[in-house]
Amino acid sequence: MPEIIAASLVGGRLRRLSVVPLLSSVGCPYSCDFCVDWSNPYVLFPPEQLEADLQYLARNWPGVMVTYHDPNFGVKFDQVLGIVEEIPKEKRSPYIIESSLSILRGAKLPRLRDTKCLFIAPGVESWNNYSNKAGVGATVGKAKLTQVVEHFREIRQYVPGLQANFLFGTDADQGEEPVELTKEFMRAVPFVWPTINIPTPFGNTPLYDRALANGQILQSMPFSFYYTPYLVTTMPHYPPLEYYDKLIDLYSTMTSNVMLKGRFGKESTLGFSVLNALRTLAMRQDLAALRLLRRMLATDPEFLAFHEGRTRSLPEFYHRRYEQKLGRYANLISRAERTPELEKPASSLASTAPGGEVADRLTAVIRSRAADGFPR
Ligand code: SF4
Repeated sequence: MPEIIAASLVGGRLRRLSVVPLLSSVGCPYSCDFCVDWSNPYVLFPPEQLEADLQYLARNWPGVMVTYHDPNFGVKFDQVLGIVEEIPKEKRSPYIIESSLSILRGAKLPRLRDTKCLFIAPGVESWNNYSNKAGVGATVGKAKLTQVVEHFREIRQYVPGLQANFLFGTDADQGEEPVELTKEFMRAVPFVWPTINIPTPFGNTPLYDRALANGQILQSMPFSFYYTPYLVTTMPHYPPLEYYDKLIDLYSTMTSNVMLKGRFGKESTLGFSVLNALRTLAMRQDLAALRLLRRMLATDPEFLAFHEGRTRSLPEFYHRRYEQKLGRYANLISRAERTPELEKPASSLASTAPGGEVADRLTAVIRSRAADGFPR
């Protein structure tokens, strides 16, 4: 309760946009190479904990919005939804989830609707990889696009808010095809908000190990730039200028006036149309940032040399950005201290960790928390 009050209430009161974060599980059965959860075994929390949390909300704040922070919600679909369904209909909280397309099928969809699932953000990632979690088997390319589009249309009949997460520049992405297919996806389902991310080598992931072994990581790039729109590696199949050109192409389509109009189509609700229109305007700022980085690559030979991996000297541009972020604390971190210490690959060690033991330990911690007299 004290945590919820601090995190979700404004001035001690529940507001219209207050959101209560919950977890029904941790870990994931998939092993996407870029994901920090790739080797964390899926562990469903003790059902009585989720039940107690939902009952508490239904008693005290019926109808408050809930966001499940599970890396992959509903892997044990019947068990989790069974608990949500026990809350009386009029007291159920609308909720937001991240889940795999492979889970979101058939008879599960009406159950999501009936329990007030409001928003789902599945990861499509790439048209040529990660197809198992998209539920399309080994299908790739245009055939995968066709199936995924149909699947999103089907889900839309039950859930009003949808997002599709993409990575552009994975090892499987080459040439024009990934860009053209993603643009086709956006046009085919304008009611789905697309997020397009740059693959980022977070520590202890196979992506990190591979990028480090291949000398792809820009070693002097500070960790604070490990997010889109910044490129912290060289790309396997695209030189940096071409890569940013393609990202700009994708973002230009995503934020175009044609797409903006399409987001108000009959397949969307007014609320989500307005939300997606606001996101479109916000993404235009990201597009401006991409264009700036592209311009730097085209006009500053040292900036280009850094992004092509020919020099390790961090461009002045990034030093200045770093200092802007820190503001008056900038002088606390010297230039030398900004260089990350890149550890040797550890994912091979993590992959041999006994999953069952980890799961048991985690469950024990959760159970002890449930029994610690925490007010409910
Ligand atoms: S399905 Fe999602 S949570 Fe699971 S490993 Fe892949 S990206 Fe991570």
